[in-house]
Order: sequence, then C-alpha cells, then structure tokens
Amino acid sequence: MCKVGFLFSIFPLVKRIHLILFSSGFAWLCNAQTSDLPNIIDYTGKVNYGYQAKENRDIDIIVIHSSYYVNPDSFLVSGVMKQYKQYGVSPHYIIDREGNIYLTVAEKNIAFHAGSGKLPGTDRTAINANSIGIEILTTPTNPPTEAELNALVSLVKDIKARHPIEHLVRHSDIAPNRKTDPWAFPWEQFLQMAD
Ligand SMILES: [Zn+2]
Repeated sequence: MCKVGFLFSIFPLVKRIHLILFSSGFAWLCNAQTSDLPNIIDYTGKVNYGYQAKENRDIDIIVIHSSYYVNPDSFLVSGVMKQYKQYGVSPHYIIDREGNIYLTVAEKNIAFHAGSGKLPGTDRTAINANSIGIEILTTPTNPPTEAELNALVSLVKDIKARHPIEHLVRHSDIAPNRKTDPWAFPWEQFLQMAD
C-alpha cells in the first residue's frame, strides 16, 4: 500500500491538476515501498564482451552459477569480471558476498553464460538465447553468505515477476558432464525461498 496518497488527502483544496502532477512525480516512492529488491549497480558500461545485443527475445529460463577469482583466491567482483573477459563470457548479473547486485549485461541481450548444454526434460540446447544468467560468488568450500543468498532470492523473484520463467536451474543441471557450479549451494532451501 502506498502511503504517499495519504499526504494529499489532507490538502483537499489543492487544484486537481497540481495533485495529478505531484502524485505522478512521487510514483517512484510507492514503488520503493513495495519492492524489497536491493539496489542494482549498473556495470553494463564496463562490459563489451560476452554478449550479443538483441531487441526482442523470450525469457523463460534462469541459470544460477558461481565463480571466484583464482589469482589470488578471492571474491573480488573486478577479479571474476577479468576472468569472464578472458574467456569472452558474461552473466547478466553478479551478486557479491555483501549482497550487492551488479547488472553486467542488460536482460534484453543474450549473455554468453551457459555454454553447451541441454535443458533437463526438454530437447532445448540454445540455453543462452532464452535465459538470464546469474553468478554468485562461492567456492566448493565457501557457501553463499546470508546477504548473498537473500539478494539472489530477491532478484529471482523480481525476474519471475517480469518474465514467464518456467525453468529455474543450476549450471550443473544443464551441463552435468562439464560443470559443477553453483558450488556449496543450498539448492532445495533456495527453491523454497524463491518460490
Ligand atoms: Zn557456471
């Protein structure tokens, strides 16, 4: 429920047109009150690799991945992005250990995050074309932090509200012979939280 409207009810004599203009100017306040999505940091300007620009595409898959920086071992976002650039890959989003969400490729574009694979229960192999890829930062022995997991849940719920998501999968689900990520990840708990 947006509380901004209440402010205007105590000014009954304000001209109607002023009220409409004023209300629309505060629409963002209502949105801020009804969404628990953490602030998204726009890193799209830093990424000129690992994606193909598109104007229209259908999105019905979310793929969860994890990464860490290997030289030296750390959870630096700039480090994992350096690795992605090296391989010409990128997710749409990266979530760090503090729960900050970075947008690295706009959702409308195809990000190269899945590689070859097959969607379980289907014959679909063009996973990148119809998916959003999210990288969290974990290692095989370091599960996600609470802030990281909560941010992922919020982001996935937000994406589900905007796209008809039919498949929420791990990278290891679509490429079981090749990939083991997301590592140390409480998948069943996450599915319940993101439902
Ligand atoms: Zn992956």
